[in-house]
Parts: sequence; structure tokens; C-alpha cells
Amino acid sequence: MSKTDNREIQLASRPQGWPTEENFRLVSTDIPTPGPGQIVVRNTFISVDPYMRGRMNDVASYVPPFALDAPLDGGAVGEVVASEADGFALGDTVLHGLGWREYALLDATTVRKVDPALAPVSTYLGVLGMTGLTAYAGLLEVAAMQPGETVFVSGAAGAVGSMVGQIAKLRGASRVVGSAGSPAKVERLQALGFDAAFDYHDGPVRESLHSTAPDGIDVYFDNVGGEHLEAAIGAMRPNGRAAICGMIAQYNATEPPAAPRNLAMIISKRLTLRGFIVSDYGQLGEQFVQEVGGWLRDGKLTYDETIIDGIENAPAAFLGLLRGENLGKMLVRM
Ligand code: NDP
Repeated sequence: MSKTDNREIQLASRPQGWPTEENFRLVSTDIPTPGPGQIVVRNTFISVDPYMRGRMNDVASYVPPFALDAPLDGGAVGEVVASEADGFALGDTVLHGLGWREYALLDATTVRKVDPALAPVSTYLGVLGMTGLTAYAGLLEVAAMQPGETVFVSGAAGAVGSMVGQIAKLRGASRVVGSAGSPAKVERLQALGFDAAFDYHDGPVRESLHSTAPDGIDVYFDNVGGEHLEAAIGAMRPNGRAAICGMIAQYNATEPPAAPRNLAMIISKRLTLRGFIVSDYGQLGEQFVQEVGGWLRDGKLTYDETIIDGIENAPAAFLGLLRGENLGKMLVRM
């Protein structure tokens, strides 16, 4: 292999508002050589996720910002192609945190082996991975959904949202309503078993939610924030709970959000709005894999993936994700 057989995506500049292709740079580098305790992984799938938009800003958060002129990182799966670590053989499949590049040099202590015979490797980044656990933990632990309740989820055709709706039904929700950004996505939600779905472009979210959940909601799983959150607070029954997972409507905003304007209702309705980060719920991992893996095996739960090919197209995949071009999990295949 020649010196420049590895390619990676670096952060070239920080965006103001919506990011563009110019914020990224494709760079050729050497394929790394492992030292003691290290492995080299040829990535087969990398994950692009909404939280990466926040990491493009130079702002301290629960994950550090991406550094300028350095490769981005994030979830990835791949195959071990060189190993100086006990317990890792050539051909092993591993899950790790150095995506956005074709070959990754990793300390073996930072990776997890996954079994490609149990499930397609891409699912370890989606339904059986970070986004699946986010849905599971947010719905069942953070919002503590109970059988018989009515659930509303925004961003419902995405990786997290599509799992929230299906898990809610499988765990006994009496009614599940989802919102998404196109008629095709609404149709898909109905096929996935949502009781009702609406396109949030069709009118005020408050009105669409009222017509699809006329008796109100008990649980709101928020992926969007803003007008969606305001509508959900308005629709909540007494003692309702919201799992605040994401607020993608404002990730590219340059002004503070106008909504929600009805936060005072939290008091009179005795509502609970609780933010969470999936990495705090690792202890649920085994239960999650057992239950969700079982539903997948039994054909009770389905998942969508939108796959873009080639590391050179990773920025386009990420930008497309922010624009809603994905159904289910957005992935880049190498
Ligand atoms: P998705 O697969 O849902 O992709 C993002 C989707 O957001 C797009 O497909 C688009 O769908 C929708 N969207 C974009 N802009 C808007 C907008 N202005 N209003 C409404 N919808 C919009 O991504 P994920 O499933 O990976 O993530 C979903 C949410 O969960 C995000 O907010 C993310 O940050 C959050 N998250 C939080 C975690 C945590 O630990 N708290 C962990 C993982 C994710 P559409 O066509 O419907 O507009």
C-alpha cells in the first residue's frame, strides 16, 4: 500500500449558521502502524450524527469540540487489519470512536468487539447501538413511559425517533403519534405502526398535534425543540413527562429560539421535562440488547438506514442529515 492510502475528513473551518462542504477537507495520510497494545482498523461504516454539529463550534459541552485542521471523530465499525494487542486478531470486527477516516489507529482498550454473525455490522451504529439505546433509555427510563399512555415523538422518521415509536407500541403505549418532515416519511411512520403521523410543514404543530392526539399526550420524546416542544407542553395531560433528547431545530440557528413560550404550564400541569445524554445509560446496555435484539429477531421491530458511499461523501451525508434527507440511521459506507 502506498503512503497515501488512508483518507480522512478534517475540520477546515467553523460554520456560522448552516455548515457547508467548505467547512470540511478531505486529506490523504499514511496508513498507521500499530504500537504495543494497539490495533489498526479499516472502517467499513462510519456514523454521522446531529450532535456533531455542536462539536463544530468552539464551545465546551459534554463532548469536546472538533479541533481545526484535525480529523473529525465519531462512531465507526470496521475490521482489524493489523494488531499488536492481545485478544485482537486480523479480521475481528470492532466498534470504536474514530470515524471520519478510512483507517483508524486505536488502543485496544478503547474498542469493543462485535459479532457480525449476530447482526449486520451497520446496526451496531444504529438500532443496536447508540441511537437505539438513546430511544430505549429516553422513553423507558427518562420519561418512564407506562402501558396505556399516549406518546408523541418528533423527528419520528429518524434513527432515534423511529425506534421510540416502535418501542412505545411494543411496550404497550395506547397511542403513538409522530411528526416528520415529508409526506413520504409520514407514510413510512404509518407502515411502522404509528397510530398517527403528520408532516410538520403542513401547519402549526399545535394544530396537527391536537388533531392526531385529541385527548392529549402523557409522554413527549423531544428530538426537535422549539415549536414542537411548545406544542407538546400545550398538549400534555397533568403529570406528563418529556424526555428532552435533542433540539435539532436550533442546531444551526444564529438567534435564540422564539418557542417554547408556554413554560409556565409546567407548574399548573405538574409536568416533568428532563434532559439526558445516552452515555449516562450504559448500565441499560445488556437489557437493551436482549430486548431490542429479540424484537428484531422476531420481526416485531424494523429499522431503516440511509447509506452514502465513500469517505469523500461523508460531509455531504452529514449535511444531508441536518436537512432531513435520511430515513432512519444515516451512515457512510467505505
Ligand atoms: P435523525 O436520524 O433523526 O436525523 C435528523 C433529523 O432531524 C432529520 O432527518 C430531519 O428529519 C430532522 N430535522 C432537521 N431539522 C429539523 C427541524 N428544523 N425541525 C424538525 N426536524 C428537523 O437523527 P438522530 O436520530 O441521530 O437524532 C435525533 C435527535 O436526537 C437529534 O436532536 C440528536 O441531537 C438527538 N440525540 C441525542 C442523544 C442524547 O444522548 N441526548 C443521542 C443521540 C441523538 P425531517 O425530515 O423529519 O425534518
